[in-house]
Amino acid sequence: MTIMHRNNSMETKKRKYNNRKELRFKEAIYLIAIIKGLCITARIFFRNLFKWITKRRGAVTTYYPEEERADRSPYIRGKHYLVQNPDGAPRCVACMMCGTVCPAHCMYIEAAEVSADPDIQKGPKRFDIDLSLCIMCGFCVEACPVDAIRMSDNVKTVGYTRKDLYVDMNHLLTWNPHREPFFTDVLRNDFQERVEKE
Ligand code: SF4
Ligand code: SF4
Repeated sequence: MTIMHRNNSMETKKRKYNNRKELRFKEAIYLIAIIKGLCITARIFFRNLFKWITKRRGAVTTYYPEEERADRSPYIRGKHYLVQNPDGAPRCVACMMCGTVCPAHCMYIEAAEVSADPDIQKGPKRFDIDLSLCIMCGFCVEACPVDAIRMSDNVKTVGYTRKDLYVDMNHLLTWNPHREPFFTDVLRNDFQERVEKE
C-alpha cells in the first residue's frame, strides 16, 4: 500500500513537471504574438528603408543567381572536390575519417588496394557524396589527414532532381581539378627540412 502511494505521488510529480503551461485566453488567440511579429517586420522594413534612402549598406537585395554578393567571405564552404595525385589518382587513402565524422551520414566510401606505392595501403574504390543531405559543415575537410578533400567557394549545388545532387568520385575529381604532389612526398620533404634545421 505504502509502495503504491509512493509510486502515485512520483507519477503526479512527473506529470506536473511534463505538463505544459496552460495558455490564458489572450495567449490562446495569439493576438499579442501576431502584433509583436508585425512590429518586428515593420521595424526591419523601416530600418532598411532608411538605410536605402541614406545610401548605406545593409538594405541591398541581391537578385541571385544573376547577381552575387560581392562581400562573400573567402572562407565560404561550397561544393567539395577531391585532390588528385600527380598521376591523376585520388590523393584519398580511404581512411574513412571523413565519413565517420560526417554528421549528415551523406558520404559513401569503399576502400580497395589501388596503389603500387608501399606507403599507400589503400584508396577509394567508391567515393560518393549526397549533397542533398550535406549540411556543408566542413567536418570532412577538417578530419582528412592527407588533405584529400576540400571545399570550393562554389555554392551553386543545385539540381532538378535529388539524383543530380548525388556526386560520385569521378565527378569530385574532375569538376574542379586540382593536382598536388603525393602526400607522402610532402611529408618526406617536411621531415627532411626539419632534420636539416635541427
Ligand atoms: S560538409 Fe559536413 S555534412 Fe557535408 S559531407 Fe562534409 S562532413 Fe558531411
Ligand atoms: S578524403 Fe581524407 S578523410 Fe576521407 S577517406 Fe579519404 S583520406 Fe580519409
